[in-house]
Amino acid sequence: MSGIRPTGFLHLGNYFGALRNYVRMQESYNCYFMVADLHALTTLKDTKELKGHVRRVLAENIASGLDPEKVAFYCQSHVPETAELYLLLNMLAYVGELEKTPTFKDKVRLQPMNVNAGLLTYPVLQAADILLHRATLVPVGKDQEQHLEMARNYANRFNQRYGEVFPEPYAFNFGEDLVKVPSLDGAGKMSKSENQLATLYLADDDDAIRKKISKAKTESGGAPGAPVPDSVANLFQLMRLVGGETAAYEAQFNEGTIRYGDMKKELAERMIAFITPIREKAEAIRNDEAYLRKVMDMGAEKARASAKVTLELAKEAIGLNYY
Ligand code: AMP
Repeated sequence: MSGIRPTGFLHLGNYFGALRNYVRMQESYNCYFMVADLHALTTLKDTKELKGHVRRVLAENIASGLDPEKVAFYCQSHVPETAELYLLLNMLAYVGELEKTPTFKDKVRLQPMNVNAGLLTYPVLQAADILLHRATLVPVGKDQEQHLEMARNYANRFNQRYGEVFPEPYAFNFGEDLVKVPSLDGAGKMSKSENQLATLYLADDDDAIRKKISKAKTESGGAPGAPVPDSVANLFQLMRLVGGETAAYEAQFNEGTIRYGDMKKELAERMIAFITPIREKAEAIRNDEAYLRKVMDMGAEKARASAKVTLELAKEAIGLNYY
């Protein structure tokens, strides 16, 4: 089980942290993937943009290879059982621990005029999304590790207080380390809203990709034995993610002969070859309203069937059954 917020254009971080794993998992697991539209309300003030964002996220997931016939692919708000489990889990979440969550503190810094209770309880809603399907594996990027720990805490607290209902969920990446796709400016990670010139979007055209990569931060460098600076290591990582070899560039770096312009050119062309087919497919799907409606209906039906079973188990364990 996993989800992506419809708050803007999807980027390489979303692809390599989340989407790529969704597509691999759909072949051998029972999967639930959603567009986290309720989560988006914690930060999105102008909800007029929501419909467009939701269609974009649906289309970009499918263009990346997600098959709505193989998985339950749905919109969070189409499964109202989510809100019911969220309410039940809120009784197990302590305000003190929510206030200490680093993502909450970041949001307080970013939107000091809109510190709503939904922001504070974001990890509880996320736990509800996951536990609703009694999911055990959650394909996410490295930034979500702490939220998963909180989801495990809520599952365990529920089980201890009321009786065993929920398995423990873990962040998942096929046995490999969780991915953090770095931003092109050498600091932090790619993200939907921060530093758009340093983030590569799945909707970027060829020129935008070339321009962003040509401006990516590098450091003059490379002396024998010198450590590779983060900005350069980031470009090596991006090169490997899109199937390029870095051994020769790393050797040149160590010798002090690396030509960043050449490396960036190769990286840009590989990136274009990677992004263009996704962008083109997504564009066609995004404009097919009837198909997207069918996808959402089909997904909601599958998700609600699973959610109903979980909620019955949860309510029975709590003692909310009086017949
Ligand atoms: P969000 O865009 O915050 O809704 O995140 C959706 C998914 O993309 C989550 O699984 C995140 O962990 C993942 N993700 C977002 N940014 C990155 C990044 N820069 N690197 C790796 N994964 C990411």
